[in-house]
Amino acid sequence: MITIALSKGRIFEESMPILERAGIICTEDPSTSRKLVFETNKKDVRLIIVRASDVPTYVEWGGADIGIAGKDVLDEYSGTGLYYPVDLNIAQCKMMVAASNDFDYERVIKDKPRLKVATKYPNTARNFFSLKGMQIDLIKLYGSMELAPIVGMADVIVDLVSSGKTIKANNLKSMELISNITSRLIVNKAALKMNIKQIKPLLVKFQELVSSEN
Ligand code: ADP
Ligand code: MG
Repeated sequence: MITIALSKGRIFEESMPILERAGIICTEDPSTSRKLVFETNKKDVRLIIVRASDVPTYVEWGGADIGIAGKDVLDEYSGTGLYYPVDLNIAQCKMMVAASNDFDYERVIKDKPRLKVATKYPNTARNFFSLKGMQIDLIKLYGSMELAPIVGMADVIVDLVSSGKTIKANNLKSMELISNITSRLIVNKAALKMNIKQIKPLLVKFQELVSSEN
């Protein structure tokens, strides 16, 4: 049995067509179900639905053999038991620094005062500002980062942006790009070794599908 871990929402929606082209069809629609384990047309492949930030943990600890996770999540993850064999090029967005429209970000970068940064991505934020030689106070949040500058709790946020509608609706603007984000296939190193006959052909298939897209 091969277990593939993915999360609901954007990643699930954009993964389904790729899985289908790889010959894996989910027999139920997870977006309208409360189940967490889903059978597929292949009797030796099942899907599990977990929180996006839990995907690498499930794969590392053997709860799943393969996972699909955003680079944003993988950059925060510190485990060592994973391979990252294929960039699926789905769920594209950008990790950005954003602040209020009237915040003088240029000056802050030049003068380097201590900066209050609210984010769900502490490692990403810490690395980014430390490379600029800046001291930050990190405020860890779990969602709705846009609120932090509005209520004066933070100077800037570090968050994912795709259309930019959410930040615009909250009178914020993108100040600097940190990195481009896509979702990657991840594999448990030990599972790959133990079960190479089943897993390797799937990885090759995914790689072929992505290559033919580009
Ligand atoms: P959460 O479970 O924390 O609510 P989200 O559903 O917001 O997670 O995001 C799950 C994953 O989807 C992220 O890790 C990221 O890789 C991707 N993602 C998030 N926001 C966007 C976006 N605006 N555009 C494209 N992909 C996104
Ligand atoms: Mg969300």
